[in-house]
Amino acid sequence: MIRAEKRKSIKVQVGNQYIGGDAEVLVQSMTNTPTEDPLATANQVRELYDAGSEIVRITVNTREAAKQVPAIVSRLEKMGVDVPLVGDFHYNGHILLTEFQDCARLLAKYRVNPGNVGRGEKHDENFKAMIDCAIKYEKPVRIGVNWGSLDQDLLKRMMDENASLQEPKDAHEVLIEAIVESAVQSAAKAVEYGLPKNRIVLSAKVSEVPDMIEVYRRLAARSDHALHLGLTEAGMAMKGIVASSAALSVLLFEGIGDTIRVSLTPEPGADRAKEVHVCQQILQSLHIRSFKPQVTACPGCGRTTSTVFQELAKEIEEHLSNRRKEWQELYPASKDLKVAVMGCIVNGPGESRHADIGISLPGTGEEPRAPVYVDGEHRTTLSGPNLASDFINLVDDYVKTSYSKTD
Ligand code: SF4
Repeated sequence: MIRAEKRKSIKVQVGNQYIGGDAEVLVQSMTNTPTEDPLATANQVRELYDAGSEIVRITVNTREAAKQVPAIVSRLEKMGVDVPLVGDFHYNGHILLTEFQDCARLLAKYRVNPGNVGRGEKHDENFKAMIDCAIKYEKPVRIGVNWGSLDQDLLKRMMDENASLQEPKDAHEVLIEAIVESAVQSAAKAVEYGLPKNRIVLSAKVSEVPDMIEVYRRLAARSDHALHLGLTEAGMAMKGIVASSAALSVLLFEGIGDTIRVSLTPEPGADRAKEVHVCQQILQSLHIRSFKPQVTACPGCGRTTSTVFQELAKEIEEHLSNRRKEWQELYPASKDLKVAVMGCIVNGPGESRHADIGISLPGTGEEPRAPVYVDGEHRTTLSGPNLASDFINLVDDYVKTSYSKTD
């Protein structure tokens, strides 16, 4: 196995889930509805949960938002959505958690940003007030540093110390170290205030991929706390997905990371659950966890002039997606299913043999017949106008016969 063993971290219970230790790498997401609107927020939490989010974070930024947390929790209970709800606090978390005890009691975890808890003496006082709430209600806390809101007093102190060195380091290097230091020092403070180590998760988010990899490598080396990975402000569409996948993949492959979130900027009106699907696909592509059957399809080239294989690959993908829920209940192990849809004879038979079930479509000038391979063996050859539905039936049969209900 080329992937490194998962780093040993302290296991943290968050509602009905565990982060770190021997727990699986969890998928997280965050709502973008106003928390003051309990209906919209509960509905979006449900969408994220239905997509597979195992922890959902909501912003708690105003008194009205904090006041609505019980209403959100109650709606979710009525909907049967049993997902840990995390409150995201900045600037006024010490006030909201102290004033709104039900909010503090009902949230499964608090996210505290040590760069946004006040300056000078107020910093420690406010931070302690939030940790005291976590202790009182036995809640875990994510100490979530973000370089966009880094503790400016700490950064200044470290920059000044660096400037007084005979050979000062590059300012960017000091910044990276300050991000790590902020997380490590804040965790130590929380422990000093009485929060058990097994109630602390750390994150240190930056927006550049190489910086993120460096920051988390250092955090992993300097602490045994569970780590929440994420590239902050990852961006829109392809850029956000590629940048997040690049950063998360390197770290996860090194065994670093206990829970992940992909912070995509949604296209207007786009499905918020996309960030959940991207997280799942990253974990499945790295063979860390399986969530759904996978389709291997060739990119096509000059050897195939028709779009048959593209259409079939799309049809299969949609079919698998439509069957996902039903199969999850009836044939849970089918999440490991691999289907190949290939464009011609060059790689078609070989790739199809590697899949659980695969079809090699005819390329330009090839005989219009499509051999189907099942578990590495040639099973049948399809042709004619019903080729797509015939192949889909074969996939359905494969799932029914190969994945027992008790798997
Ligand atoms: S399998 Fe055939 S059609 Fe597909 S990319 Fe390879 S050579 Fe091209």
